Formats: sequence, structure tokens, C-alpha cells
Amino acid sequence: MNTNTTGPTDMTYEDSSTSGDTAETDTIYTAIIIGGGPAGLFCACRAAGEKQRILILEKMPSCGRKLCITGAGKCNLTHTGTMADFLSHYGDGGKFLRSALMNFKNTDLLVFFQEHGLDFIADENGKYFPKDDGTAKDVLSLLLAECTRAGIEIRCREPVRAIEHTDDHFSVKTGNATYTTENVVLATGGASYPATGSTGDGYTLAKRLGLPVTETGPALAAILIRDYPFHTLTGISFDNVPLSLYRDTKKIRQVTGDIIFTINGISGPGALHISRYVQKGDILHVGFVAGADEGRARKELTATIADGKNRQVNTVLSGTETPARFILRLLELSGIPRDATCAHLTKNDRNSLIRYLTDFPFTVAGTEGYATAMATRGGVARDAIRQKTMEAKAVPGLFCIGEVLDIDGDTGGYNLQAAFSTGALAAKAIVSGKSGGKT
Ligand SMILES: Cc1cc2nc3c(=O)[nH]c(=O)nc-3n(C[C@H](O)[C@H](O)[C@H](O)COP(=O)(O)OP(=O)(O)OC[C@H]3O[C@@H](n4cnc5c(N)ncnc54)[C@H](O)[C@@H]3O)c2cc1C
Repeated sequence: MNTNTTGPTDMTYEDSSTSGDTAETDTIYTAIIIGGGPAGLFCACRAAGEKQRILILEKMPSCGRKLCITGAGKCNLTHTGTMADFLSHYGDGGKFLRSALMNFKNTDLLVFFQEHGLDFIADENGKYFPKDDGTAKDVLSLLLAECTRAGIEIRCREPVRAIEHTDDHFSVKTGNATYTTENVVLATGGASYPATGSTGDGYTLAKRLGLPVTETGPALAAILIRDYPFHTLTGISFDNVPLSLYRDTKKIRQVTGDIIFTINGISGPGALHISRYVQKGDILHVGFVAGADEGRARKELTATIADGKNRQVNTVLSGTETPARFILRLLELSGIPRDATCAHLTKNDRNSLIRYLTDFPFTVAGTEGYATAMATRGGVARDAIRQKTMEAKAVPGLFCIGEVLDIDGDTGGYNLQAAFSTGALAAKAIVSGKSGGKT
């Protein structure tokens, strides 16, 4: 085992600034992986071998801090489904991931963990979580144990500040030392949840090496609503509702998913999925009871109200999916008395109420931002990276994997799968010895 790492159960690594390594090192590494998140750790495990010297440089006191909070600490590792289905869960980035996902599928990931003693089980929505009482920390411990077994060097509290590229080598500079390597893997993550160490350093490092970086922003973030009318209804949720996003009266995206009212907007998988596209001023239409067919829902609601006769509208329309408190608020917003009966509802009032139920327009004020976003949209431009190796086209020997890339997936395990699959693909190219323009 390397002397500057502690065991996987501890998960905290000695600060190499106290280990005396302050000067230029003599070792020439096969690969230096910058960032000890899931992408970096897995890439290291896969690239390890007798002839390879692999070093992970991690800026935090320990690796995998974001991994530990995934799935609320339970780690939603991946999802059920074919790779064809997976490709549809990364917005416009799916096509780019084809080679990575085909090379290392969801089933391969599950087998890897199973072979190392951690079993996963899919829930009713197809999300894989560790079986029994397994947690995200178990996932991290397993990866760290595998790194230790493979003889990978891990140095924590070593933020990489600069990378210099000469013809056949890279110099990687931290505050403590300058390391020399044949390959560099940028696995620094995105810019969301900065407290975990992912603060967007990778974008700066990539730009300095000449790689284009697309505009970045929070993704999988709760959506903030201007003049939000439901702040008293925090916690009320709706299953499987259609959400349509309009910009300048043009529909630009539509998704279907569960949502939940927050104090200042909407969250839940449906809102998180569409959040990567929203801009301030967009109109987000939500069909609270629209189901798959809005026209049919309108007809059914009209019939329900007609059948309600002298019963109160609120009683007739509320149910498990549309709580009374929500209907009362819609009556208020439509200017209809809360005790109005179906028989006394004017046609205009009825139409206004039905429109709110089937197609409520929210004006987007923004998203909750990086502090709580689960992913970052944008990053190292996909067309600057070789899809089959994750190597930069213009900088042989430089690889970009995981969330530092312009890739963000839906909730459901798609982001971790992308981190593992891109890590595996880069490792394959490094091991083959064909990186660094040697293809
Ligand atoms: C609250 C939350 C819950 C989530 N839940 C899920 C889930 O259940 N399933 C799922 O699929 N995805 C989930 N995600 C997303 C998922 O965690 C990320 O997509 C994934 O961690 C990305 O992996 P990565 O290795 O690319 O980057 P990261 O995990 O961000 O790791 C990057 C590492 O690089 C280090 N680093 C950064 N800059 C430097 C530097 N200059 N020098 C050295 N090291 C550096 C960081 O400290 C960090 O350790 C969740 C995200 C959040 C915030």
C-alpha cells in the first residue's frame, strides 16, 4: 500500500503538505487523475496495472464527498433500461455518450460492485440503490479499497493549480509539488454543491489548455417562480404531470414527471429535469390534472362539474391527487367564492378553473442555483473530445471524464452512470497505450 494513504474505512487521507513532498518529484506517472470523485476513482481502478503508475490528486481532505450525499446518502447508482433508453436521459448530450455507455453499461456497473461484495436492487421506478442497509459511503469505501488494492497513490488536500503541456509530458502543479505524467485525466466534477469540492476548477484548467468550455449553469435545480401563488402549500405534490416550457410564446421543451411545491417554486423530478433548460422570464405550463391528454381532462372536468349540481366545487374536485387546500387556492385565484356550488358556477368561472387545473402558467424567476443544484449543465465542449476515448482532440494525453464535461443527466442514477462509463472509457485508452496521439 502507498504510504500516504490511509485505509478505506477511514476515508480521510493524510495531508501531503505535511509529508515532505514539496519539490519536483522524480517519478513519471502513467496518468495523474485530478479529482477523487466517482469518475476519477473508477478511472484509476480501471487504469491500474503492473506497468501503470497512477496518482489521484484530490483537493479536499478526503475523496468522494459528493458521492456520499447522492440519493440522500443512499446512492442511486444507476437505472434499469437499455442503453438506447439511457441515451434519451442526457438532453442533447446523449449521442456523445453512446460509446462510453456501450463500452460500460449499467449491467457492467452492477456486476463490478456485486463482484466486490455490494449488491444493488431496483426500486419500483427503476432506480438502483444498495441492497439492505447499504449506503453511498459503502460505495465510496469499496472504490477506495479497490484503489488501495491496485496500488494507486491518492494524495488529498492537493488542489491542482496549473497543468503545463510539453511535447510528450504534462507537469501538474499543486501548492506542494510538481508532478510529471504521460497522461492527465480531468475528473474535477462540475460547479454544483461547491461545499463538496466541485467548484468549477476543471473549467479553468481546461480553458488554459486550450479546450473550449460551453456556458455553465445549475441543472437538476428547483425552479423559482415569479409572484409564486402556492407558498402556503409547500410540500403538496403531484404525480406524473406534464410540464411545457415556453420562450417568446414558442414551446421549447416538454417533460412529464412528479413535482412538489416548495416555499418559492417547484421541485421534484419533473421540475429538476426541465430545469437545465429554463431561463428567467420563460413560462412553464403545468397540467396538474391533465394526464397524457389535456383535451380529455378538460372534458372530464366539465362533466364532473356538471354532475356536481348543488355540491360545493371544492368537494367535487378534491381527491387524493388534488388536495382540497389546492382547489381552494385555485378558486381564490379565479375569484370564485370558496363555498361556490357547481350549479352556480358561471361558464367563465368554470373555464378559468379548468384551465388552471389543466394548464397553469408559471413565470420562471430562475433556479435555486449551484448551492443546491444536483448537477451542472455545460462544461468542456463535447466536440473537443473524442467520443471513443474521452481524450481531447487538440491535446493528446489529456482526458476529460464525468461532470466536468458538457453532460448532465436526469435524476435516476444517470449522472453516476455517466461518471463511471466515461471513467472506464478513458482508462481503457490509457491502458492500451494508444493515448497521447499514439493511436
Ligand atoms: C445532493 C446531490 C445528490 C445527487 N444524487 C445523485 C444520485 O443519487 N445519482 C446520480 O446518478 N447522481 C447524483 N448526483 C450527481 C452526482 O453526484 C455527480 O454527477 C457525480 O458525483 C459526478 O462525479 P465526478 O466524479 O465527475 O465529480 P465529483 O463527484 O464532483 O468529484 C470531483 C472531485 O474533484 C475534486 N476537485 C475539484 N477541483 C479540484 C482540483 N483543482 N484539484 C484536485 N481535485 C479537485 C473535488 O473535490 C471532487 O472530489 C447528486 C448530486 C448532488 C449534489
